[in-house]
Amino acid sequence: MSDSAFHRRSGRLFAEEVALEEVAARYGTPCYVYSRAAIEGRWSRYCEALGDRGQVCYAVKANGNLALLGLLAQAGAGFDIVSGGELARVLRAGGDAGRVVFSGVGKGSREIRRALLAGIRCFNVESGAELERIAAIAAETGTRAPIALRVNPDVNPETHPYIATGLAESKFGIPLEEATALYRQAADHPSLDVRGIACHIGSQLLNVAPLREAAERVRELLDTLQALDIPIEHVDMGGGLGVRYRDESPPDPADHVEAILPPFTETGVEILIEPGRAIVAEAGVLLTRVEYLKENGARTFAIVDAGMNDYLRPALYDAEHTLEPINTGAGRPLRPLDVVGPVCESADRFATGYPLSVEAGDVLAVRSAGAYGSAMSSQYNARPRPPEVLVDGGQTHLIRERETVDDLMRGESLLPGG
Ligand SMILES: *Cc1c(COP(=O)(O)O)cnc(C)c1O
Repeated sequence: MSDSAFHRRSGRLFAEEVALEEVAARYGTPCYVYSRAAIEGRWSRYCEALGDRGQVCYAVKANGNLALLGLLAQAGAGFDIVSGGELARVLRAGGDAGRVVFSGVGKGSREIRRALLAGIRCFNVESGAELERIAAIAAETGTRAPIALRVNPDVNPETHPYIATGLAESKFGIPLEEATALYRQAADHPSLDVRGIACHIGSQLLNVAPLREAAERVRELLDTLQALDIPIEHVDMGGGLGVRYRDESPPDPADHVEAILPPFTETGVEILIEPGRAIVAEAGVLLTRVEYLKENGARTFAIVDAGMNDYLRPALYDAEHTLEPINTGAGRPLRPLDVVGPVCESADRFATGYPLSVEAGDVLAVRSAGAYGSAMSSQYNARPRPPEVLVDGGQTHLIRERETVDDLMRGESLLPGG
């Protein structure tokens, strides 16, 4: 089901048993649509591949909608969070704090305290300064903080520079050479409880070789720590598996797991893995309606009702997606179109010279928009953010309402007398 969650029947694009034209008519556009079967299918592939070797921790930042988190929580998921807000979402969705790992370079004191009191599984610590702060807060609250150091294995993930995180010049992680000294400090500290080693080298990886290389370097560190009598329970190898946006051929979840497990066979450590994009990206589409066709000299523009505020990846990463009309017209010719949004920025563009057969009023599906889509949306240009709809078989559930103009101004006020 998961690979065929989005499919055509007599020219009409469906999510599971629901025609997307019905979703567009009922909820309007722009609108995110997810397939429950596709999400659960990807999730179970990871779980089956990892088996009893460890825990899959879904990276909440890819898509933190409560309904999605709730589905995964019920399936026994762990979660990788990067803020106190994400922790609150996980707990609200019924997730188990004891399966939460907390990543990110800039954890604030309040976030750290909250996570400690909630009883999360582990802090993935990104610097010596952060380690000290976590220790101080743990001492203050009379607890011991479970920690792993996020090391930077300095491997090239061969991806877009904005989503490469494991290179020496990256802001993320602690250089491998410095990790051992910090682990010794942490092991001696009464308020710290050393649990693991963490790393995450980047995102949208289309080749698993860099993941294997990172795992081998982490294994060397593991040996060093064990020789120093610093016990390590788990190794967290991060996320990062790529997906198909246009014509990529990404590895499968099983290939991902197969790349990172072998260096740890017979070490007895538990393996954590933090996929985000690979769980939800292909399980979602963004529906957007063509408002106008416009000719400017040699170019023809399709101006659509979704903009970079609704879906930022094209503007931020030069991302290119498959675009397709949800209903294919009878025999209209394809022509190269520049598909652009209504936001007042030239970067607000989905595609350049993309062959499409559309008229004003037609609805397009931006494929593989389930990850880093709604999660990155903003209200720029005072545009209310789009709704999210989950399709489950023949049913649709509105899992996030479209924002209203009042929502845009919530919390603001005029000056007194003004
Ligand atoms: C973003 C992130 C992930 C998830 O990355 P994907 O490419 O979406 O799988 C996992 N771990 C950490 C630490 C991250 O920052």
